[in-house]
Amino acid sequence: SSSAVSAASILTKLHSDCATPLPLLRQVAHAMAADMRAGLAADGASDLKMILSFVDSLPTGDENGLYYALDLGGTNFRVMRVQLGGKEGRVVATEFDQVPIPHELMFATSEELFDFIASKLAKFVEKEGGKFESRPGRTREVGFTFSFAVKQTSINSGVLIKWTKGFAVSGTEGRDVVACLNEAMGRQGLNMRVSALVNDTVGALAGARYWDDNVMVAVILGTGTNASYVERVDNIPKLHAPKSAGGSTIINTEWGAFSRGLPLTEFDREMDAASINPGQQIFEKTISGMYLGEIVRRVLHRMAKDATLFGDSIPEKLQMPFSLRTPDICTMQQDSSKDLEVVGSILYDVAGVNSKLESRKIVVDVCETIAKRGGRLAGAGIVGILQKMEGDSKGAVFGKRTVVAMDGGLYEHYPEYRRHLQDAVTELLGPEISKNIIVQHSKDGSGIGAALLAATNSIYP
Ligand code: ADP
Repeated sequence: SSSAVSAASILTKLHSDCATPLPLLRQVAHAMAADMRAGLAADGASDLKMILSFVDSLPTGDENGLYYALDLGGTNFRVMRVQLGGKEGRVVATEFDQVPIPHELMFATSEELFDFIASKLAKFVEKEGGKFESRPGRTREVGFTFSFAVKQTSINSGVLIKWTKGFAVSGTEGRDVVACLNEAMGRQGLNMRVSALVNDTVGALAGARYWDDNVMVAVILGTGTNASYVERVDNIPKLHAPKSAGGSTIINTEWGAFSRGLPLTEFDREMDAASINPGQQIFEKTISGMYLGEIVRRVLHRMAKDATLFGDSIPEKLQMPFSLRTPDICTMQQDSSKDLEVVGSILYDVAGVNSKLESRKIVVDVCETIAKRGGRLAGAGIVGILQKMEGDSKGAVFGKRTVVAMDGGLYEHYPEYRRHLQDAVTELLGPEISKNIIVQHSKDGSGIGAALLAATNSIYP
């Protein structure tokens, strides 16, 4: 070949740059625990914001009545109706609807966005099914899952710090998003109020906890990533609570911003530099669904450019950022055919190239390398949270059954990623403690979780 370097040598360097041996994972877990402590001590003292959720009572199973959940966190917004029947009836019935946010509303005014949401909610409330019973004269209560950076001020108020994920709505930043929604519901003539404002990981934790008292941590691995956990109030210096306050709350770690000790490559650095938030969300950029495919694309692009992996010219589509998506690399890794036909057809569709078997093998190896690093680092992050909790309460976490509730499309749909995550957790904890730590999928807990938190924070006794 006429190229200066071989694809094999780029691959070898990638392997060593992405390596996650046990000592490195230990350091990552340790740094995560240390950053959590720093963030609990004072605001602004750590990469981890360690945001107070103001949730001071977790669902018990006794919750009763009709509640709503509203979820705004990305390109879709979801409404849900939940009929709770106490310990006996549990979740009697649920119903939900999903509405895409029209693109122009992402650039509209705050009133326009919230009026749209309230109008869809009004439509949903109108068509109540037979199993749902609201008590006459009572205001309907809503748990509002809002997955943007909010400075929470109470269980039912929080000021938007910054829109993210492509939203550029004017007039919301600096305002209480609960007031925005309550006012819009008023304009629609809806007799409804927000009883709980929750982050999606906090909702996921509450939702999973409803079914299992041993749930202590919730992690979301989807387009982005975040984690929350149950913390003792006495362990939160920045809360300035009386020493004897007692009780527990949920902390939203915002762990996507973690950055210490991660094995990063030149491809990560270039992707970060080209991103809308350079230098931020480094852990998220290494482990979450939005980015894994893009990291692989950057590696393949380099292999095409410097090592003619796909022939003499660089496929045009391969030059386009985010053209290769995480579900694509997942599908390619699943290809068990002898000549990797699926890999071939995805490369053709996405990059516009005809590939030889040798190249396809390299592509699969790159996918595996990036997914393995992501899964193992996510596992190390989870162990960091558990070690922080265990350090404050000897035996209370590692000495008994403890559940980590997992949610999000990446975790749900990428089996190799999931396996690497579990491997790292098991390696870090060792065989004995691992028996007590259950990392398990808990699907769509966050919707029910928000409704449950509306119930536990109801204005009606
Ligand atoms: P979000 O995080 O956007 O609220 P999800 O939890 O459903 O929503 O996660 C969606 C993300 O999950 C996608 O952006 C993608 O990165 C990832 N994902 C979805 N399907 C797959 C798949 N088959 N394999 C790997 N990743 C997937």
